[in-house]
Amino acid sequence: MDIAPEQVSADGHWNLERPHDECGVFGIWNHSDAAALTALGLHALQHRGQASAGIVSHDATRFYSHRGLGLVGENFENRAVMETLKGHRAIGHNRYATTGGVVLRNVQPLYADFAFGGLAVAHNGNLTNATLLRRALVGRGCLFQSTSDSEVFIHLIAMSRFATVIDRLTDALRQVVGAYSLIALTENALIGARDPLGVRPLILGRVGTDGWVLASETCALEIVDAEFVRDIEPGEIVVITDTGVQSIKPFGVQPSRFCVFEYIYFARPDSVVEGMPVYEARKRIGEVLARESHVDADVVVPVPDSGVPSAMGYATESGIPFELGIIRNHYVGRTFIEPTDNIRHLGVKLKHSANKAVLEGKRVILVDDSIVRGTTSRKIVEMVRNAGATEVHMRISSPPTTHSCYYGIDTPERSKLLAYRLTVEEMAARIGVDSLAFISKDGLYQALGQANRDPRQPKYCDACFTGDYPISLPDISDNDTRQLTLLSEAG
Ligand code: AMP
Repeated sequence: MDIAPEQVSADGHWNLERPHDECGVFGIWNHSDAAALTALGLHALQHRGQASAGIVSHDATRFYSHRGLGLVGENFENRAVMETLKGHRAIGHNRYATTGGVVLRNVQPLYADFAFGGLAVAHNGNLTNATLLRRALVGRGCLFQSTSDSEVFIHLIAMSRFATVIDRLTDALRQVVGAYSLIALTENALIGARDPLGVRPLILGRVGTDGWVLASETCALEIVDAEFVRDIEPGEIVVITDTGVQSIKPFGVQPSRFCVFEYIYFARPDSVVEGMPVYEARKRIGEVLARESHVDADVVVPVPDSGVPSAMGYATESGIPFELGIIRNHYVGRTFIEPTDNIRHLGVKLKHSANKAVLEGKRVILVDDSIVRGTTSRKIVEMVRNAGATEVHMRISSPPTTHSCYYGIDTPERSKLLAYRLTVEEMAARIGVDSLAFISKDGLYQALGQANRDPRQPKYCDACFTGDYPISLPDISDNDTRQLTLLSEAG
């Protein structure tokens, strides 16, 4: 069943051009409530994807699966459903997607029966050679069931000439290019893998007496009372069985390029990512931003929720009071049907409303994490002015987003990025602010504990701000927009 875009995105503006593979993954080995804990883990990772959710479990004899469109709660709050997911092992997946192509057959984990037995796969990220691989595989007779990148893994594993599951998976990973965190469940093992540069996150935890957890973020450990053990290393494959955790590094060791946007926006603020609490990182980003772009004002106001920690940092550093000048309505359902055209402009008020008591007669510094198309900022600024602000200054806790992400963060095509098309001054005029400033690239790195951004070996993947793409993009040849469209369709 196809679902309409309005059923997936309450924001309305955030949709349609690119593959959408921001996702949350969770896996558990050896726990009597494996499926229930997986549902809880996915619930904690709900911010990573709201379009679909799925769990595959395994008991000593067979696999069980339930997958559906919508939120984790909508799919797994039903006791009868949970009772079907038997066994002491399970993996689960949340998918972010906003296109009309959101269909049940794309919902992960994907499952297939192979000569060696069953295997389920859940994947977060984006493969940059998925189109080419798919074309080659189809040429060799593979019949694809979905339009998801992740199915490429299934066929590569099936076609591999190696004997063991691990060797077949390693063989498959050798052929894919891209950014991924992957969790797989076989009859004998829970497997986790991270791309060679570690762009997407994956962590290992312990649960109960002898259980193990793999998850995208540490916030998923908290909810199931699991203990953090370590990050899975870039390029590492971990194989968890009843005898423990085996680590394999078939791709050698390379300096990592973790996604800096996880710190800025994507990860949950209570997660600790690559050893750094996201909340602290965001506050420090706000502090550096305040030092770099001071302006006299009366209040610092975050755009909720993502702008809150950096606005706190900005306020502390600048000495300007932090106030909640915009209130977020948390009950905007995904299924809210957008109103007709003539009242569509009211849409933003579904999610945010201006707190006049804070804003009236004030010089306001608005802090948000990013400007992508600029649609959100323009509406928020208008709302703040209508509430009586005398000046509005916008401060952004990321550098300008000038390039699309091909590694799993949903960004529109480049021509839709405001910072690609306009200078900062032009952007300020477009969104209607008195001044606009972004944190510098070096400032961002300083906030994350580096001296500066070393252009020869940056610590993070920051391609969305620099155009420095650390992983090749085989599906796209330079300036070939036809190929770009193909990549989008491969989603
Ligand atoms: P825009 O209206 O396109 O400029 O959207 C910018 C807003 O979207 C920012 O306030 C961010 O909080 C949010 N945002 C940034 N990146 C993403 C993303 N990949 N997915 C969903 N929302 C995002």
